[in-house]
Amino acid sequence: MNTANLKQFTFPSKNTTKDIFTVPAPRIFDTGNNPILDTLAQLRKGHSNPSEINGIEKLTKRAKSKYFTGRIAIELADLKNSHEQYYRNAYYCNNTLLQINDSVTAKYCNSRLCNTCNRIRTAKMINGYTIPLNELNDKRLLTLTIPNVSANDLPDALSLMQKAFRSINDLMRKRKMNYGGLRKLEITYNAVTNTFHPHSHIITNGEDNANFILSEWMKRFPKASRKAQDIREVNEGSMIELFKYATKVVSKDINGTAGIYIKPVDVIMRALYKKRIIQPFGSIKKYVPEDIEELQKQSYPGIPEYDCIEWHWQESDWMNEYGELLTGYVPSEAVQRIKIISDTRNSYDHKAPPK
Ligand SMILES: [Zn+2]
Repeated sequence: MNTANLKQFTFPSKNTTKDIFTVPAPRIFDTGNNPILDTLAQLRKGHSNPSEINGIEKLTKRAKSKYFTGRIAIELADLKNSHEQYYRNAYYCNNTLLQINDSVTAKYCNSRLCNTCNRIRTAKMINGYTIPLNELNDKRLLTLTIPNVSANDLPDALSLMQKAFRSINDLMRKRKMNYGGLRKLEITYNAVTNTFHPHSHIITNGEDNANFILSEWMKRFPKASRKAQDIREVNEGSMIELFKYATKVVSKDINGTAGIYIKPVDVIMRALYKKRIIQPFGSIKKYVPEDIEELQKQSYPGIPEYDCIEWHWQESDWMNEYGELLTGYVPSEAVQRIKIISDTRNSYDHKAPPK
């Protein structure tokens, strides 16, 4: 792997800094065991005010996301396909932090690959959709699948699923059914069969609506296994699960060993490129945009005291000009043990490369 090229790459410079993103105080349920958000995680520890959250702890989580994504992004960029720049941007997401007093400004890549950006998306989704979702009665979580497909068939499969959802939605509207909800698209890779598994998780109101959607789905995809479809009651955990934005890039091989298969991840990233992942329907009219702002500034109480200093990413932490490390994050053995598999038995030429 040649990292020299990546290291020479620089972002086009922007000289404006917008004062935007701050994770708002969550107005939602306790998350149970899903420490997605710093704020939520902290609330569980008994802080009532998000401003009490330790800045270093938050930045350590960011370091962890960045480290994880970086390992994958550099391999993806090395494929040198039409998405190379997209992957490079993910590699360089949050590479430099500009600290002014206790505020830190960073540049975000807005890539779906990037866990640093995905954590922010998750926060946006939770904050945007929780109230409309909570207005639905008797919520059900529905999982809809189609038979696994090859890399080449994935884009068409996604289009067919999209078409099916649109027609089911039209049908429900014409029948004046009282329905609404959210639908999330996911794709996982099965390393044993070398196939892709596109599926949707849907939260909707009432068992009747869930059953109706399911039966209409089976009419449109008669080859889908009825057993693979699922309806269950919604709990707080499944709500959070729906909003988790991170793409599941880890697959298990025939021995159950976890690995990240680079070419299949590329296939998934390209298939999802510019597609909406979370889509409201029926009575939920509000749409929360999935893009995130490029420049974001937030305050981090408890970080080292400087009036103005830059921190640059080195391996797994940010370092300043005095050689001081910002977070002290050290990747766990478990994270380092996840194998990254760059060569795969088949080629994954994609039918519809992005423009
Ligand atoms: Zn990013």
